[in-house]
Amino acid sequence: MFEKLCDETFLVETKAAVLKEKIQTSRVLDYLAEVDRRRLWLREGYASLYDFCIRYLGYSEGETHRRIQACRLSQKVVEVKPLLENGTLSLTSLTLLSPVLEKSNAQDLLPKVINKPSREVADILAKEFPEKIHKKEILKIVLDEELKELLDQAKRLASEKDGAVLLKKVLKDFVRQKRTRNTVTPRHTYRVQARTAREVRDRDGYQCSYLGPQGVRCNQTAHLQIDHVRPYAMGGSSRDLANLRLLCRAHNLAKARLDFPQWDPASPLATPGKPGLCNKEACQA
Ligand SMILES: [Zn+2]
Repeated sequence: MFEKLCDETFLVETKAAVLKEKIQTSRVLDYLAEVDRRRLWLREGYASLYDFCIRYLGYSEGETHRRIQACRLSQKVVEVKPLLENGTLSLTSLTLLSPVLEKSNAQDLLPKVINKPSREVADILAKEFPEKIHKKEILKIVLDEELKELLDQAKRLASEKDGAVLLKKVLKDFVRQKRTRNTVTPRHTYRVQARTAREVRDRDGYQCSYLGPQGVRCNQTAHLQIDHVRPYAMGGSSRDLANLRLLCRAHNLAKARLDFPQWDPASPLATPGKPGLCNKEACQA
């Protein structure tokens, strides 16, 4: 395919292909922003935009993380997109910038980090924002069989691939639990008896039971709540197992908005096609 090209032309074409790739990446961020705005991931049966990027779009965890950070940052700070497109700022650098870049400091900060390798960007940010960008310490832990198995199980249950993020979550929960040991916290399973709740959890396999229109089941296994298929306020039973199911927090909230449109008429679970109603003529144009 390249044999007939001289070296100079080949290099020019390589550069052009890379430029196209950057513009394409920036376009992907626009698509992700719109998917998120319409909350399409929720309706289709994914637990989050992150989950949608991995299971539906086929990105790896790292690719997803960088794209979502870049997507949200470029919505917030308009100066970011042109820099991504001309290749002077990478997705990795943007991820590093995400905790500190604001509309108010973009004019000052961006010129300092463009055209710099991400390691250098990390150093600059650590100096400029010592209170926000902490130097990371490396904790080495030897995993025996049991610990490794527990870690794998916890990762699956929490839908979290990053061990450090999971550890932070577990430690936060542990500290919170210890601090509120003597406080009775209300359960989300209100009006559903503990035994019934257990049966619902067993039946639904400790996983959100929401099914998208394409048959995709939400894979969220954390923060599950018991949902009344027919709401309790509308006479739905709290004893009939057929009226109860497990939903993750996001799907339960969207379902509540659907049940009680006076709260929020624009539930992402509304009839497929809304709010992003497909106007075929416009789509084909
Ligand atoms: Zn869910």
